[in-house]
Amino acid sequence: MAQISPGIVSVMVSVAVDRPYSYRVPEGMSVARGSIVQVPLGPRKVVGVVWGEPQDKVAHNRLRDIELAFDTPPLTEELMLLVDWIAKYTLAQPGMVLRGVLRSPEAFEDEKPIAVFRFTGVLPDRMTSARQRVIDIMEDGFAWNKRALVGESGVSPSVIEGLVKLGVLEQSFVPPPPIVQPPQPDHAPLTLNDEQQSALEHLREQSPDDFGVSLLDGVTGSGKTEVFFEAVADTIRAGRQAVILLPEIALTHAFLKRFEDRFGARPGEWHSDMTPVQRARMWRSIARGKVQVVVGARSAVFLPYPDLGLIVIDEEHDGAFKQADRVNYHARDMAVVRAHLAKARVILSSATPSVESRNNADQARYQHVTMLGRFADAKMPDITAIDMKEEGPEKGEWIAPGLAREIFSALDKNEQVLLFLNRRGYAPLTLCRTCGHQYQCPDCSAWLVEHRFRGVLACHHCGHEMAKPKQCGKCGSEDSLIPIGPGIERIAEEAARRFPEARRVILSSDMGGINAARERFEEIARGEYDLIIGTQLVAKGHHFPKLNLVGVLDADLGLAHGDPRAAEKTFQILMQVTGRAGRTGQSGRAFLQTYVPEHAVMQAMVRGDREAFYKHELKSREAAGLPPFGRLAALIVSATEHDVAFGFAQRLANLAPKAPDEAKLKLFGPADAPVAMVRGRHRVRLLAQSEKNFDLSSYVRFWLAEGPKPTGNLRVQVDIDPMSFY
Ligand code: ADP
Ligand code: ZN
Ligand code: ZN
Repeated sequence: MAQISPGIVSVMVSVAVDRPYSYRVPEGMSVARGSIVQVPLGPRKVVGVVWGEPQDKVAHNRLRDIELAFDTPPLTEELMLLVDWIAKYTLAQPGMVLRGVLRSPEAFEDEKPIAVFRFTGVLPDRMTSARQRVIDIMEDGFAWNKRALVGESGVSPSVIEGLVKLGVLEQSFVPPPPIVQPPQPDHAPLTLNDEQQSALEHLREQSPDDFGVSLLDGVTGSGKTEVFFEAVADTIRAGRQAVILLPEIALTHAFLKRFEDRFGARPGEWHSDMTPVQRARMWRSIARGKVQVVVGARSAVFLPYPDLGLIVIDEEHDGAFKQADRVNYHARDMAVVRAHLAKARVILSSATPSVESRNNADQARYQHVTMLGRFADAKMPDITAIDMKEEGPEKGEWIAPGLAREIFSALDKNEQVLLFLNRRGYAPLTLCRTCGHQYQCPDCSAWLVEHRFRGVLACHHCGHEMAKPKQCGKCGSEDSLIPIGPGIERIAEEAARRFPEARRVILSSDMGGINAARERFEEIARGEYDLIIGTQLVAKGHHFPKLNLVGVLDADLGLAHGDPRAAEKTFQILMQVTGRAGRTGQSGRAFLQTYVPEHAVMQAMVRGDREAFYKHELKSREAAGLPPFGRLAALIVSATEHDVAFGFAQRLANLAPKAPDEAKLKLFGPADAPVAMVRGRHRVRLLAQSEKNFDLSSYVRFWLAEGPKPTGNLRVQVDIDPMSFY
């Protein structure tokens, strides 16, 4: 669509709408597809994007005018197609997808110039010591902004204003400094070792101007980051933009510093800690092509890069890339779609690739680049299973004697030790030993988890909390409540008792926010602790040079649920956490406390045989028709009354349209969800499974359109390619 002025266009507004609406382009305004505009919607003013030709037939005189066309580059065709694609695939409303792309309206306005002052050479009639200080500073002829000048001279702002009035200083306006300096591709490249060099050459075989995905599949510490940094350098040299997506928690100061060391400038950052003003500035700078490399969390996949050349997804297997919100998207999959539209390259980097990506590499849909050695000859950790049935801990303890002996000897040698348990709090269940009462959340079907550190029982699903009672809430007995099972705080308590000399730190999301966690990571890396006791927070991509022993207290956690990805997730987390051990020069050791040492996951771990795991897992997925050999879509029906939710799900299931035989469509449910109630809403699940080439999204859309409509407080959530099954 060419420039339109005036005329009628369709505008996608960034609110929950299903399609673009028509608006009039007023006299004197000129817009094109992609133009970012402000339009009236009912009583509100909303931001939207000109989508194209009008799609509905509304009489011209009933249309409203576009109020404002922002002076900002239009969205690229590629990004608009991505919005349509995601909406179609995930069944989200396109307006909501667009909202994730546009984010902050301040970003569309031009950057405000900043006021600066210069010395004119004129001297004031009456000199004071304050005035003299300002003049001394400004005699160099440079321009100063007011804040810097006040800071440097120590005078009050009124002195500066006075000098302007007297003509001693002159005020002018300059554009604000760039948000980041340009990265230098040749600033400080490392000398790659042979394996890294050949991985890089392998990556470079792919055409840089065409779509293509490479799986950079290398053990922890093999130098994947160094290799993809070189691919980023290539993209910078080609004058296109690159984005590196990281799981939010891995986006640390250490990573940004590493980038700066390599490229001589900080990347553009994009994460949840930024203020709206920072976000707006970053968005605007990216849209105007002033940021060449962005390092960000999953939503950075939606930023308005003018000419995106490379998307790197570090830790591509990580569940944090899936957003389960109003728009259920998987950033890895969306990155592949976007790269396809942008003719860009994708590098998926992981020590434990997702089964999907691994299969794509096996099938040659993705280029497979492997790195099996560790940098500087660090060895893979030696992994031992501790059979909890035979060699389990003493009563009242959680650390088995065999593991405890190892911990003592590691601490003796001044090595760092990590104890890993993926469960927050002190104990997952509180029970009355007199009457058997179990403390449950009033609004969720879940036990309340004791958090002793904070003195509360808390629900991990809705956040409900109560002070830990002194008496049983049911029978009134005093001192009869007992904690059942361990959480990370209970392990810390045992560690304090058994290893009192060790400098200890607990790392879990309860111990402060992301920033606090990042600070702890840096302290650990500096060797300020001997014993690290942590949840999955510690498993993500950090380099702890002194860590040599890892104890996994419950390796089976996560295997139990009816989750088709349970084995994969368990394998990944065990690999990641044991991979923390022995990264520099030494071989580390890891111990897995397990009741099922014979399980395929444990066997693969102990034998150090990743391939065995993938082979086994791919085979069982294929046999069951599960992803990547089939597709899944989950429908979660919820309501405040169980019968309402269940009845509706039942009707939906009964009315499911027939699919062609070759779709191999199967419906499961309705069934109460494993967590059957959350925040007072009863949850009932339906699961559709199909053959992998079947368009399951369209099927579900048709099904919902034809089926009964949810009314009252009934809600139906659709999750295409679900990652969680609670
Ligand atoms: P991965 O991303 O595969 O886990 P990294 O890229 O983080 O591995 O490398 C592990 C460690 O080894 C890092 O501290 C990194 O700086 C260092 N390293 C890797 N390759 C090189 C190299 N070629 N020269 C110098 N140091 C390297
Ligand atoms: Zn009781
Ligand atoms: Zn709850």
